[in-house]
Parts: sequence; C-alpha cells; structure tokens
Amino acid sequence: MDTSVSPRIVSVYWALDGGIHHASCGQRMVLQARQPDALHFACLACSESVRLPISALARIPVAT
Ligand SMILES: [Zn+2]
Repeated sequence: MDTSVSPRIVSVYWALDGGIHHASCGQRMVLQARQPDALHFACLACSESVRLPISALARIPVAT
C-alpha cells in the first residue's frame, strides 16, 4: 500500500450523517453519476461537481 503519491482529499468530507459534504460550503452533496472507477457528486448549493475516484473514497476525511 503506497499512500505517499495520493493527493489528500480536501474538497469533500464524510459527515456524521453518513453523507458526503462539500468542504467549501458544508452542504451535503448528491451522487450524480456512477462510473466503474469514479463517483460524481454534485453540490446543489453552489452548483459545483466533484469527481471522486473509487480508490480515493477511503481517504476522504471524516468530520468530527
Ligand atoms: Zn458546495
């Protein structure tokens, strides 16, 4: 397992409600599309979309 080459996830975080939230506005994001290797989330509050590789899901920070 080599995590040193993986960029840190800063655009989204897991919230305590189990959803993925947008880091810049704090709103919950909705799953927009699912690909074999990535998930696309959309933020309804600021109309941004974020692509998350499946391999990066385990590295999303959890809100405390
Ligand atoms: Zn947002």
